Amino acid sequence: MYYNIVVARPFDRVFTYEADDSTLKIGQIVIVPFGKTMEVGMIIEGDVIKPEYTIKKINTVLEGLQLSDINIKFLKWVSEYTLAPIGSVLKLFIINKDIVSYERTDESLHEPIFKSVTLNEEQYQAKEKIIQIQETSHKPIVLEGVTGSGKTEVYFEFIEVEIRRSKQVLIMVPEISLTPQLENRFKERFGIEIDVWHSKITPKKRKEIWHKCFEGDPCVIIGARSSLFLPFKNLGLTVIDEEHDSSYKQEDNIRYQARDLAVVKSNFEKSKLILASATPSLETINNINNKKYHHVFLSQQYSGLPLPSISLVDLSKNKLEKNQWISNILKLEIDQCLNNKEQALIFLNRRGYSPLSLCVECGYRHQCSQCSSWLVMHQKKRRLLCHQCGSIQEMSEDCPTCLAKDSIKFIGPGVERIAEELSQTYPDKVVSVMSSDIINSPKKIKDLVSKFSNKEIDIIVATQIMAKGYDFANLSLVGVIDADAGLFGGDMRAIEKTYNMLQQVSGRAGRSQQPGKVIIQTYYPEQPIIQSLQKRDRSSFINQALAEREQFKIPPFGFMTAIIISGSSKANVEKSAQQLVHVKKLSDEISVLGPVEAPLNLLKGQFRYRILLKGQSRKKLNIFTKKMINSAKIPSTVRVVIDVDPYTFM
Ligand SMILES: [Zn+2]
Ligand SMILES: [Zn+2]
Repeated sequence: MYYNIVVARPFDRVFTYEADDSTLKIGQIVIVPFGKTMEVGMIIEGDVIKPEYTIKKINTVLEGLQLSDINIKFLKWVSEYTLAPIGSVLKLFIINKDIVSYERTDESLHEPIFKSVTLNEEQYQAKEKIIQIQETSHKPIVLEGVTGSGKTEVYFEFIEVEIRRSKQVLIMVPEISLTPQLENRFKERFGIEIDVWHSKITPKKRKEIWHKCFEGDPCVIIGARSSLFLPFKNLGLTVIDEEHDSSYKQEDNIRYQARDLAVVKSNFEKSKLILASATPSLETINNINNKKYHHVFLSQQYSGLPLPSISLVDLSKNKLEKNQWISNILKLEIDQCLNNKEQALIFLNRRGYSPLSLCVECGYRHQCSQCSSWLVMHQKKRRLLCHQCGSIQEMSEDCPTCLAKDSIKFIGPGVERIAEELSQTYPDKVVSVMSSDIINSPKKIKDLVSKFSNKEIDIIVATQIMAKGYDFANLSLVGVIDADAGLFGGDMRAIEKTYNMLQQVSGRAGRSQQPGKVIIQTYYPEQPIIQSLQKRDRSSFINQALAEREQFKIPPFGFMTAIIISGSSKANVEKSAQQLVHVKKLSDEISVLGPVEAPLNLLKGQFRYRILLKGQSRKKLNIFTKKMINSAKIPSTVRVVIDVDPYTFM
């Protein structure tokens, strides 16, 4: 008997193997000889005709391990949609050869203790509405709630329902740094530990969770985007928290949007799906408008306090002092906040001390030798860091080019420089920095968060790491150093991301004890985008952004695919990029933009070019992309990456 098998290697084809057993099933996991090693694979077709060449035998059939029809359907769909080789997609499900072997230990299951919670009126109404929707519809439900409105409590109610039905539940979060808070809340609410799934858990734990999912055991898993590919057999509910977060887009290896794939999967499974966010993405809003998703809204903070007031500081009228970035107006607010024994959060989404260092004698700028990117000065460790590739250079105040002494000046602030300014202004107060350079482990995050909660820190200067998820009772003031940095001039996704981030960070102030205040510094207070932020008029931002995207036929009003061509020889990369677009006559329904040198045209020593494809049908666009790739002769030294639904354009 001959079987076609998908092998968990980056090949977009099946391989035929022989087995004595004629009763093997589609979806069964097997070990097969592959090249010089053994590899894990999955039977995708049985009863195939013996090919002309010599056929190897299946080595091991793993009894009891069989992917469900829905998982196989989903696997094929992911490969077709993302244009990733089917073998690579299988690897997302199977992970590695080691995981399939497992001796089940009968651990005693802890019975959950359901703590009854009191929902406020608005939460209660939201819950009732969701129950009503679920009676008749399988469409995803968007649970939108302003920051501090208590969305988590609402979706916990539905997790309880699934636990009582002995179903499996998946809660997806964009970043693992957000899991500790959620873990604690879960334990408080249900009296049991939640299983956490991400790349840093132990191999033993990984096996345990994977097999639990496979067996259909009742469980609740909280995980980063890869948890989407856990082989659940009995999934009742998926919750995607912070659904707008761009971290759901995987940017290396197989490029996929985990949120979007989860929607497809829940549709295949007819399982329930809740998308939670304070700032739903434009795609999601568009799906609500088109009645593809249901919408439930929480408009008030759980505490009953009004949302913090937002005021603008016009920097063109309130000039900053030389080498200072905090306006006098913001300083007065900080004074008042500290006098009231309250805490402040100062937000700037720029790591390090200064983004640019420049020689005042000859104009030399410190640049990474491997990337087309300026080096960022990090004061704490006295060194220059490339934020693209991570390479490090020692700091020197003398110019390496013209050798002038003490000629390097630092232009513009990062969080460390803002912290320095605050420490000089408030020498007797404790100022701390929260950015991914300094707070780079779950433990450090936990420590800093608890210090701030315990009022051991007066002012925290933070990047986006602080924008979401945290709740500090005594935090009453949020200052935004530079609203203009990401709201103007970027691509449309970058603008949406910044807008959401500013809205989220504004929601950190005044959540439970006293009404909060938000101060935003900008040179463009009259711009509509700043105005809608200040008036909390999110819908006008959304409407304008959607109208623009519709005009240019970009997502969600059209489809895009990016092709990134890279390699160590610039000439070869350019030649390959040119070759790819030679076939563009194949369709007039698709526009081909480029090739152009990527904005980040050198990354880790690799030269980069980009092509952008746009079309009105994903199917046609994918067929076109495949033709394009297959008909060009790309040398093996040049790498071609296909990014379906790209989020970054660097
Ligand atoms: Zn110089
Ligand atoms: Zn670099």
